[in-house]
Amino acid sequence: MDIHEYQAKEILAGFGVPVPVGGVAYSPEQAGYRAREIGGDKWVLKAQIHSGGRGEAGGVMLCSNEEEIHTAARSMLGKRLVTRQTGARGKLCTRLYIEEASEIAREIYLGLVLDRQSERIMVVASCEGGMEIEELSAEKPDSILRLSIDPAAGLQDFQARELAFKLGLNSAQLGKAQRILRGAYRAFRDLDAVMVEINPLVITRSGDLVALDAKMSFDDNALFRRSAISELRDKSQEDPRETYAEDRGLAYVGLDGDIGCLINGAGLAMATLDMIKLSGGEPANFLDIGGGASPERVLQAFKAVLMDNNVKVVLVNIFAGINRCDWVAEGVVSAFRELDLTLPVVVRLAGTHVDAGQDIIAQSGLPIMTAETLAEAAERAVAVLPKH
Ligand code: GDP
Ligand code: MN
Repeated sequence: MDIHEYQAKEILAGFGVPVPVGGVAYSPEQAGYRAREIGGDKWVLKAQIHSGGRGEAGGVMLCSNEEEIHTAARSMLGKRLVTRQTGARGKLCTRLYIEEASEIAREIYLGLVLDRQSERIMVVASCEGGMEIEELSAEKPDSILRLSIDPAAGLQDFQARELAFKLGLNSAQLGKAQRILRGAYRAFRDLDAVMVEINPLVITRSGDLVALDAKMSFDDNALFRRSAISELRDKSQEDPRETYAEDRGLAYVGLDGDIGCLINGAGLAMATLDMIKLSGGEPANFLDIGGGASPERVLQAFKAVLMDNNVKVVLVNIFAGINRCDWVAEGVVSAFRELDLTLPVVVRLAGTHVDAGQDIIAQSGLPIMTAETLAEAAERAVAVLPKH
């Protein structure tokens, strides 16, 4: 689960990481009030969406009077901001964060990620702040410093100092960097985060270190014990297809193609996506309906798949062990009737109660296409796609 910049900053500040003074605003007027409360004569207005790359997309604006704040706020609020991370749909901006502007002397990249290979938290840093880490690793891989943290010992002060030194910080800044690293590490570890990113971490003209941007992601499987973090969830920032499915206990991942998929088992689902690709098609989603799926659950899965307007064909692929093909077939038939399905549907059933399942489909009189094998099902789904 991701959270907003202002939320991440509040958390990190609680762990001793210095952040600029700022406030949240839901309207242009409120942004103006906040600016007056903050004081000073230069502010940065920032769109709060779950995405980086806001700067180049008009989501970060420097303002020096109330009128500029109002104009900038109106250009962001209620708009879908498209950055290079959001995809073409963009993300809706409903809140703003306004901060005192910082005078930047240098920008540093600092990230903490969970390195699954070493099963450790890894600190990633670079002198080339402001660039996204993907860009950095593509364009300036040599600038990236890595530091692996032993979970038993935690982040050691000498490690933090060494990293700060490699980033070219002077002796007065070493202590500050050490504090920031320790704070970010503790926030990560104590709150079951999977990512903390401070990009840029800036050195100001006066030599201070400040987290100018902050991003945190949390382990979904740990949210049950992090109620304060769970409350920060903003569903408006999530893929509505995924939220719908997740609320119904379905394992769904949205993709960009046009063949909607209902499959049992994550492994079979992955194999089916591969088979669709091999047949020249593009899957619209990954969806595992799980074991022992009732007809109602299959109907819900259909609804989840059909929420995606790109879907032109639905492919149902069930290899029933714990599942029952007759229940799945009933679900398919009820989806046809209740959802007024007009899209082509290809169904491949195998395993438990397969004969009963095939009978239900045959006797329904509905235009459901069937297939014997996974390969045949994928080919058929691609073949019946409407030609553009
Ligand atoms: P992102 O584009 O979504 O990652 O948003 P950031 O918060 O990282 O801001 C993008 C860029 O805007 C930063 O890399 C800075 O160069 C610039 N920026 C952000 N805040 C300030 C500020 O207070 N003062 C100045 N001068 N530039 C800022
Ligand atoms: Mn940033």
